[in-house]
Amino acid sequence: MARPSPRIEVAHEALRQAIIEQALKPGTKLPEDVIGEQFAMSRTLVRAVLAKLEAEGLVDANPKRTATVAQPTLAEARDVFEVRRALEAEAVRLVAKRWQPSFADELDSLLRQEDEARARQDERVSIHLAGEFHLRLAQLSGNALLERYLRELITRCSLILAVFGRPHSSDCAIEEHSALIAALRKGDADGAVAIMHSHLGAVERRALLGGDDEKPAALGDVLSRYAAAVTARQTTKPPRTANQP
Ligand SMILES: [Zn+2]
Repeated sequence: MARPSPRIEVAHEALRQAIIEQALKPGTKLPEDVIGEQFAMSRTLVRAVLAKLEAEGLVDANPKRTATVAQPTLAEARDVFEVRRALEAEAVRLVAKRWQPSFADELDSLLRQEDEARARQDERVSIHLAGEFHLRLAQLSGNALLERYLRELITRCSLILAVFGRPHSSDCAIEEHSALIAALRKGDADGAVAIMHSHLGAVERRALLGGDDEKPAALGDVLSRYAAAVTARQTTKPPRTANQP
């Protein structure tokens, strides 16, 4: 398949990040003209971006209406968590099987950054890093298909947290992540699987309680902020490979 145009990639990544980090709330309208203007793209390209986000469960697109940030139902949310628990338990089992001391260094470093972000109350970075921790574990499983499925499920969970819960930063407890690393380090595969299971159960319980009544930000403001961040990242880093969103 041909590599998608960089503009589509920037728009897709900016919108994806803005939705995951809850800068764009569920139900927010995503008019094609505003997005097209922001990313200097035709409506056809905007529709391609929205279709991609719809396939990832992040956007509700309907040819007759303006697309919106998806609003998963409670039943869908429970289904997503159920599958995520099953797959992440398997991912942890695989990580334990191919464990190397360098894995602990990587996970510890993510945890430290998450802790620092939380200490300076940088909620967006903290949400991002909590997700990264789980994505990194999925990658360390060494199973590319499992990683792909988990990437989608973890992304959907961020949206679910935006609909039903408080921000992810208060839902992914750092102590639970560090207990998981400790079990893996000891070579305790069953213990690590059990910790992951109870961690995700706790995330789900915390997420599917409470509500969040922050007032919505203007779409144009959020998009320009995220577009600038994505572009800056793309110019400082080598291009992402096809299996990384
Ligand atoms: Zn977590």
